[in-house]
Amino acid sequence: MENKVRFYNTLTKNIDTVIPVEDGKIGMYTCGPTVYHFAHIGNLRSYIMEDVLEKTFRYVGYDVKRVMNITDVGHLSSDADTGEDKMVKGAKREHKTVLEIAKHYTDAFFSDCTKLNIKRPDVVEPATNCIPEFINMVETLIEKGYAYKAGGNVYFDTSKLKDYYAFSSAVEKEALQEAVRDDVETDLNKKNKTDFVLWFTKSKFEDQALKWESPWGVGYPGWHIECSCISMKHLGEHIDVHCGGVDNIFPHHTNEIAQSESFLGHQWCKHWFHVNHLNDKTGKMSKSKGNFLTVNTLEEHGFNPLVYRMFCLQSHYRKPLEFSFEILENIKAAYVKLVKKVTSLDQNGEIDQKVFKDYKAKFEDAICNDLNTSMALTVVYDLLKADTNDATKYALVKDFDRVLSLDLTNPDAIKDNKAEVDSELEQYILAKIEERKAAKKEKDFAKADAIRDELLAKGVKIKDTREGVVWEIV
Ligand code: AMP
Ligand code: ZN
Repeated sequence: MENKVRFYNTLTKNIDTVIPVEDGKIGMYTCGPTVYHFAHIGNLRSYIMEDVLEKTFRYVGYDVKRVMNITDVGHLSSDADTGEDKMVKGAKREHKTVLEIAKHYTDAFFSDCTKLNIKRPDVVEPATNCIPEFINMVETLIEKGYAYKAGGNVYFDTSKLKDYYAFSSAVEKEALQEAVRDDVETDLNKKNKTDFVLWFTKSKFEDQALKWESPWGVGYPGWHIECSCISMKHLGEHIDVHCGGVDNIFPHHTNEIAQSESFLGHQWCKHWFHVNHLNDKTGKMSKSKGNFLTVNTLEEHGFNPLVYRMFCLQSHYRKPLEFSFEILENIKAAYVKLVKKVTSLDQNGEIDQKVFKDYKAKFEDAICNDLNTSMALTVVYDLLKADTNDATKYALVKDFDRVLSLDLTNPDAIKDNKAEVDSELEQYILAKIEERKAAKKEKDFAKADAIRDELLAKGVKIKDTREGVVWEIV
């Protein structure tokens, strides 16, 4: 079939057309969550955009098999395998076992995904399911001379590779090398600073709960090995597309490539897709910072999680995105209007095939061209204004929603508390919030308080959060 999906490939630094190993089929691998806490909406930005990519492949006719791991062992608090084990930390925090923690947060993750219309990957595999596969890969890497034992652990020897920094230009390599040299947490067992652990038997933390027999003693796997093994178990020696957030590029994906290609003796994955970060006012949203936003937080503030999905689709996946409730309010207003418009279209009538084909081509063009989701949304808006009958418009929006997954044809999508507020009142509230913001900036706190009280008297409660002001009808 004709290959027409293009995106920015981190490996080549070009917008490459994806040419799969097997015609018409895409093998896609996604790094899954580390399940020691709820996913925050930053993590979910990555999964939303990866979902759009998967659906784009399906939309244009590929048969896609998508695999995701669940990291339930081995991810230390630093990606460069130092620090405390994240799962053990989560278990301690909640006085539960590691497996209880893993189950609880895996279920919570998929429940969030359902609310965001993120399709469950065809295969989901927890790392703890694959210990024999990890041991086999580590044994082979030792046999081939790519790995060594030191101080009870097994390490990958990065000096054995011609080009360890697979994703980096010369300048970036220089910076990375410097950062690695300056890293204060030195592991004296390592021959080279960039070497990483494949199998631990001696960690600094004796309370590691999950351990398995291995040729090197009772222990547990390093983090990176799981993605290499789990992808090969389900997708074979080649994968077409590998995805993750940009923080995965180094060291996680760099290490995945090092061990996979040394094990296989050939190139492993040609196309690498990375989603940029969601930031809050203090920088990258991250689980370790503690104070992060979840799907639950959005719901508590009266947002249908699909409004957040639309927020993500309106911006390009390669750009950093800053979250604020104010912007989310605006997106919500746009979303409510859009769903109202689509659901009020008269579905009876004959579809104009020419218009259908033209708009489908425009939509396809947008999503296939480096996943231009904001352009895809513009196509929806243009279509709604176009000179054609309602039935054609409705059929097209329904078709586009196979990729956008915004429930645009579902009237229930906008049936929540704030959606019922008429737009005049909403405009008034937003204007008052702006006025209060200006008063606070001028340090006129009496005026700011008066505005808050005035809104409260009208049944509107406002709350200041780190990400801006939120309001609710009380
Ligand atoms: P983790 O659960 O920490 O292993 O991360 C799960 C996924 O979320 C990975 O693909 C990360 O690269 C991605 N990720 C982490 N933080 C952010 C963020 N602030 N914005 C977007 N993606 C992120
Ligand atoms: Zn991974």
